[in-house]
Amino acid sequence: MLSGMIATLLAGAADTRATEAPRRFEFARTVMAAPMNLVLYARDQEAASRAAEAAFDRARAIEGIMSDYDPASELSRLSAAGGGGFVPLSDDLWRVLSRSQELAAATEGAFDVTVGPCVELWRRARRMRQAPAAAELAAARARCGYRLLALDPHSRSARLERPGMSLDLGAIAKGYAAQEALGALEKLGITRALVDLGGDLALGDPPPGARGWRVAVAPLRDGVPSLYLWLSRCAAATSGDAHRFAEIEGRRYSHIVDPRTGAALTDRSCVTVVAPDAASADALATAVSVLGPERGSALLDGQAGAAGRIVRFTQGVEEIRESARWKALPVFVPEPAAR
Ligand code: AMP
Ligand code: MG
Repeated sequence: MLSGMIATLLAGAADTRATEAPRRFEFARTVMAAPMNLVLYARDQEAASRAAEAAFDRARAIEGIMSDYDPASELSRLSAAGGGGFVPLSDDLWRVLSRSQELAAATEGAFDVTVGPCVELWRRARRMRQAPAAAELAAARARCGYRLLALDPHSRSARLERPGMSLDLGAIAKGYAAQEALGALEKLGITRALVDLGGDLALGDPPPGARGWRVAVAPLRDGVPSLYLWLSRCAAATSGDAHRFAEIEGRRYSHIVDPRTGAALTDRSCVTVVAPDAASADALATAVSVLGPERGSALLDGQAGAAGRIVRFTQGVEEIRESARWKALPVFVPEPAAR
């Protein structure tokens, strides 16, 4: 009898809760030197804050593993062991490096996380406003190449073949962290959520009653987006040189390098990719930037659940290309007055 009463009381409590609409909460921090924003729906402030802190903690933990600035990070220690034996990896680093090597093979090296020495050279070139000398570039290229990174699935360990190699996860780690942060929210029962880590988006269930999260497709130049997508339970990323580039002797150099030549990209481009998870979206957006519209959209067509839009500006001519699955995405085009 007593247990029956408790059950009735609990059922009553559940009923009131079910009719209470979840509220929208937003949180912002800086993680991986980028703005990290969360939008989530929760029943109260306490549940929202607890989940948000867990999400930020998860992203910070990944930053601690994958930073190439911090010499103590797991990634830096692996790079420092170049030329030595196999090094056992954490679960996170194993997953990101495995995915990276899959994409390196699928793109014949257009996506390549061993590109660190070339990226470093171009970083310095941008600071000094002087392109690297051919000899410097050749020396850096000798220390790059995804075939010089061996992964052993049995021991989950990695080996860099040459000393002086350096891994750079700048094109995939933010996406991975965004996805894992969304997972941390979901573990605490928050499924209607969006994680934005420096423009890499991981999307959970849509806001209550909504068709999806309204995601802006970045325009090539600064300005108001003219195109939006309704997305949920997937991820989106943008890669391009709209914000991160340097001009040296009249040429624009992007922060993206073509690992096959060691040169920084000079075509202006903006790539938006939608994929099932944010690590893939992040990495694919960078890979497509290197491959260009034609080979880039073919790559997306071959990746499960991926779609993309590529805008490229070459010698004053704008070229737009959409991959096959892009056309099936729910697009929202606002009225000119409402933009
Ligand atoms: P994203 O902003 O996601 O396109 O990533 C660009 C960052 O990834 C750069 O700042 C470099 O740290 C790194 N990177 C540059 N070129 C490549 C490449 N071809 N493959 C993999 N990572 C790259
Ligand atoms: Mg990327």
